[in-house]
Amino acid sequence: MRAPFVLRSVRETIGATDMTQDDLAAQLLHLHAAGLSKGAPVAPQIQTASMFHLPGEPDESPYYGRVDNATWVALEATLAHLEAAPCLCFPSGMGAISAALLASLRAGDQILLPSDGYYATRVLADRFLATLGIEIETRPTAQFDQGGFDGFRLVFVETPSNPGLDLCDIAATAQAVHAAGGLMVVDNTTMTPYGQRPLDLGADIVVASDTKAPNGHSDLLMGHVATRDPVLFEAVKDWRKLSGAIPGPFEAWLTLRGLETLELRLSRMVASAEVIAERLAEHPAVSDLRYPGLSNHPARRQMANSGFLISLTLADAARAERFINDCPMLQPATSFGGVHSSAERRARWGDAVAPGSLRLSVGIEPLESLWAAIADALPAR
Ligand SMILES: *Cc1c(COP(=O)(O)O)cnc(C)c1O
Repeated sequence: MRAPFVLRSVRETIGATDMTQDDLAAQLLHLHAAGLSKGAPVAPQIQTASMFHLPGEPDESPYYGRVDNATWVALEATLAHLEAAPCLCFPSGMGAISAALLASLRAGDQILLPSDGYYATRVLADRFLATLGIEIETRPTAQFDQGGFDGFRLVFVETPSNPGLDLCDIAATAQAVHAAGGLMVVDNTTMTPYGQRPLDLGADIVVASDTKAPNGHSDLLMGHVATRDPVLFEAVKDWRKLSGAIPGPFEAWLTLRGLETLELRLSRMVASAEVIAERLAEHPAVSDLRYPGLSNHPARRQMANSGFLISLTLADAARAERFINDCPMLQPATSFGGVHSSAERRARWGDAVAPGSLRLSVGIEPLESLWAAIADALPAR
C-alpha cells in the first residue's frame, strides 16, 4: 500500500485563481518576446536537430533530439503559463494519456475509467494495460459524484464527458479519491485551461489533446501532460525520453502559433454555442439537447464557460446523416475544436448513444451565417 497523496489546497471556483482569464491570455502573447535580445526574431523559431555540439563532459546543455528541442521548450512554456504547472508535450492526446498512465501505474494497480469518456482511452486500457496486470473498472461520469474510490490507485475523470457531455464535480471527486489514497487524472480536452482548471481543483495530473481547440486548425495532432507533482513530472518525462514518443518540431511550432489565438477563437465559439444550443433546444426536430450552459448540475460552477460542444438527437440515423452532410457550414468529420464547425453521429463508432445522436462542434463562423445554414439543413421534425 503506497502512501496517500496529500490533498493540495482546493479552490472553491476557478474565479479564485490568481490571474484573470484576460491577463492569462494577454500575457501569453508576450511570453516569448520577454527573453529576446536585440535583432532576434519576434516569432519563435523551429529547431530541427538530432545532434547538438557537445565537446567534453555532458552537462546541462542539450545533447540529443529525443531529449531536447527548443521548439518543445517554447511550446511547453506557453502551456505551462496556461496550466500554471510544468508541462510536457506529446505527439498526440493519446501519447499524453498513455504516458501519464504508464509512468504512474504498475502491475497489481486498479484503475477507474469513465464508461462514457473518450473511447480510445478505454481501448488502450483493455488492450494493453490489462495485459500488464492492471485491473480496469468503468463507471458513468455522472456517478463519480457518489464517491466510492477505495482500492483505486488511479481515477481518470473526463468532464464534460465525450460525447454525452455529462458533468461531475472535480474538487469533490479529487477529495474523495485522495482520501482513498489514489491519484486523480483529468482529461481536460473539451474545456482547455481557459474553460476549466482541474489542477486548481485538486487533480494530480491533467492530460489533453491539443489536436482540438488549442491548435484549432485541424492540421496536426499534439497533446500534453501537466502536473505540479515533481515526482510524477519526472516519471512522465523519463517515459517520453525512453519510449521515444516525441512530437515533431514543426507540429510543436504550429501548436504554439495556434495557442496565440486560442482565447480569441474560444470566445467566438463559446458565445455562438450558447445561442445555438438555446435555439436547437426549441427546435421541433431536436430531442435530448445537451449543453453544459443549459445544465443545472452543480459542477457547472467549476467551468468558466459552457464550451463549444453541443450534443443533440434527431429522430433517426438517416435524418442525422442528411443534416450533417447537407449543411454547407458543417464538416462531416470526427474530432472537434477546429475553426470550422463540424459534426458527427457518434453511434457510427459504437458509442452508447441513440442512432440519431450528434456531437456538434461550433467553430468561428459568424453566428447568424452559421445558424442560417444549420436551421436550413435541419429536418422539419
Ligand atoms: C481527441 C481526444 C483524445 C485523443 O487525442 P488525440 O490527439 O486524437 O490522440 C483524448 N481525449 C479526448 C477527450 C479527446 O477528445
